[in-house]
Amino acid sequence: MVNDTTRLLGLDGLAVVGVASDTDVPVVHLVTADEQARHCPDCGTRARRSKGRRVTRPRDLPVGGRRAQLVWTKRRWRCDEPACRRRTFTESVPAVPPRKRLTSRLRAAAGAVVADAGRTVVQAARDHAVSWPVVAAAFTGHARAVLPAQPEPVQVLGIDETRRGRPRWVLDEAAGVWQTTVDRWHVGFVDLSGRQGLLGQVEGRTAQAVIDWLDGRDQAWRDTVRFVAIDMCTIFKSAVRRALPQATLVVDHFHLVQLANQTLTEVRRRVTVTHRGRRGRKGNREWELRNRLTRSAARMRGEHVDALLDELAGLPKMIGAPVTAAWHAKEDLLDLLATARTHPDREEVRDLLYRFYRRCADADLPELERLATTVETWWPEILAFLHTGITNAGSEGTNRVIKTVARDAYGFRNPVNQRLRTRTATTRKARGHLDPR
Ligand SMILES: [Zn+2]
Repeated sequence: MVNDTTRLLGLDGLAVVGVASDTDVPVVHLVTADEQARHCPDCGTRARRSKGRRVTRPRDLPVGGRRAQLVWTKRRWRCDEPACRRRTFTESVPAVPPRKRLTSRLRAAAGAVVADAGRTVVQAARDHAVSWPVVAAAFTGHARAVLPAQPEPVQVLGIDETRRGRPRWVLDEAAGVWQTTVDRWHVGFVDLSGRQGLLGQVEGRTAQAVIDWLDGRDQAWRDTVRFVAIDMCTIFKSAVRRALPQATLVVDHFHLVQLANQTLTEVRRRVTVTHRGRRGRKGNREWELRNRLTRSAARMRGEHVDALLDELAGLPKMIGAPVTAAWHAKEDLLDLLATARTHPDREEVRDLLYRFYRRCADADLPELERLATTVETWWPEILAFLHTGITNAGSEGTNRVIKTVARDAYGFRNPVNQRLRTRTATTRKARGHLDPR
């Protein structure tokens, strides 16, 4: 009964009785080859009386790279069981479920390429010649089946936020200020010690949302977490303190360097506006030097650093003095971080920290005061980074994938779908889909 063509097509419960290939699309004629199909789906009684035939044309995956037209001639049967309410039924097999016009494997393949192969729903729909809702539903089914319900325990947890969509503002006419109307965020939890990738996301950037997610894990999972890497965000700090009291908080020096450069830029912009009455532009030396200012002196040649300082000294005093002070404060902080990482000699680190605070205090600039206060507030967490070397870079990498998925999809209307898509995209490595073998 089972011929080679049937074996090649590989649709369980269906047998090929002929292939007509005189048209562009080969037509494959099928009959039912599953004894179970003759049993009533309600009561299970084997039917004896046929009520005629039906022809269906389920769509399937390409065969040998070509799309084929399946034509399945199936029977309708009468159920003779007196107690059964169903009078008649049509044959169905698991490969083509009842009332479905697609084979199960076509549906599964369309969902799998979205979850595991980085395809968008639109492209998967084009590739498989099915509609967008079909692929979206197939993806959801696939994702729910392959994603673990609960994450495995992690020792180092990363918490980071990503903006969901674009923020929107309206002008408050009475007050004359712009008010934020839409500002949507996702907070992600990342496995930084293992390979699990993104463990989950919650909507909203509040301490309660973070606590709720952490409380959703069992006690053993929470007890396993030893370190939590965050950026300098007080919301995460207070949430972790409450939900994971035993964990050590770590702040990456990357965020600190970024903050120091931002502070320097703020000082430069403010003094330019104050002194020149407008924003910086070509012809203003401090504006032209803006990229050189934020470069680390340790990565510049000595003569270039000297030249930079000479240029700053040549600027009008109102501009040159504060920018130079901010540059020195930034460099002091970088020195401190570099020293603390390479030879963590307590005394030396303390001296450098003191020098940095002193510099900020002497400059008498509000921006530097704020920077010094931030460093002071977060010093225990910065020190934890200097001792452990744990960085939040894994979270940042995950964020890049999250953003790529959102851009490829031209944004998401539904945050639940977005989280599911993001989760499948960021756990592909853990699920073995990036492995060339
Ligand atoms: Zn029946």
